[in-house]
Amino acid sequence: MSTLASIPAVSLQSVSRHFGAVRALDGIDLEVGEGEFFAMLGPSGSGKTTCLRLIAGFEQPTSGSIRVFGDAVEGVPPYRRNVNTVFQDYALFPHMNVRENVEFSLMLRKVERMTRQREAEAALELVKLAGYGERKPGQLSGGQRQRVALARAIVNKPKVLLLDEPLGALDLKLREQMQDELKVLQKTLGITFIFVTHDQGEALSMADRVAVFDHGRLMQVGTPEEIYRRPNSRFVADFVGSSNVLPPAFVQSMFGESRWASLRPEAIHVARAEGDGEPHLTGIVVSRAYLGATTRLGIDLGGTLLHAVVASTEDAPVEGERVTLGFSKDAVHMMEAEG
Ligand code: ATP
Repeated sequence: MSTLASIPAVSLQSVSRHFGAVRALDGIDLEVGEGEFFAMLGPSGSGKTTCLRLIAGFEQPTSGSIRVFGDAVEGVPPYRRNVNTVFQDYALFPHMNVRENVEFSLMLRKVERMTRQREAEAALELVKLAGYGERKPGQLSGGQRQRVALARAIVNKPKVLLLDEPLGALDLKLREQMQDELKVLQKTLGITFIFVTHDQGEALSMADRVAVFDHGRLMQVGTPEEIYRRPNSRFVADFVGSSNVLPPAFVQSMFGESRWASLRPEAIHVARAEGDGEPHLTGIVVSRAYLGATTRLGIDLGGTLLHAVVASTEDAPVEGERVTLGFSKDAVHMMEAEG
């Protein structure tokens, strides 16, 4: 569930990881609850992989402490941490067949052969690969290789599964399918999933909570809805949504407060500028992108560009047309003060 249990599955206290002058992570405080599906989101180089590797035990923090189910894990090697990692490139052994790949870590732990086989088969069944045991990784599709990597991690029955851009190598359709399947798998296993992604849509649609990183710092942690509707900063609003970020001068002129604010494109009502009603603002449509059921308009308000999403009806405004915009004050989310 998304509520935090009394002992978090993973907690980070003031964790930093510096590589020379590079502050890959800088003073991170974070708690991930038991059974949560947790996303670490951020642009390239923001520190999310470093954070995952610290939890996994492949890196050590420069300072700060990490706990897994309450136990400090400083100096504890990855294989003793009750966490397992699924790597972006899957890291399968090409010369071993699927079953041997999945059994490998059990073999290292000297699990007896019959038990090993039974558990590997059960893991393959969970990822819908029953019957593929004798194939080599080279004889599988990208999506199937991804499933083998998952089976290889869950066969160890970890309490926390770490996934580094797990769907990054898959094409869009397969990605969407695997997103659904990962969610189902997480519910079935009931364990904590922490996954790294730079894809906002993926984080918002899959996770119970999302942590947004930038330049080694944690910018915001919240449910997808909180992150999307109430971003706490320009950075989060820009990165996470297709939200409009309104500059302080604009917000001041409308609401009397000199602050940055965000306004979601779907909250803007667009009408032809014909003089009736009570137009708040008028502007010119400068771009128009057909998205299927909806159309995204770029509207120039004399120097400020706003995006609005309207239904793709036949009379949706076209480029060059003058339109009026309306939105309620509630739709405008105030963020940081000017500065
Ligand atoms: P991406 O999405 O591109 O994988 P990321 O958000 O996961 O990015 P990290 O891989 O955590 O980012 O890297 C954070 C910063 O730390 C980057 O500036 C990176 O160059 C630096 N960094 C990471 N690992 C090392 C290392 N071993 N040595 C030096 N610098 C490193």
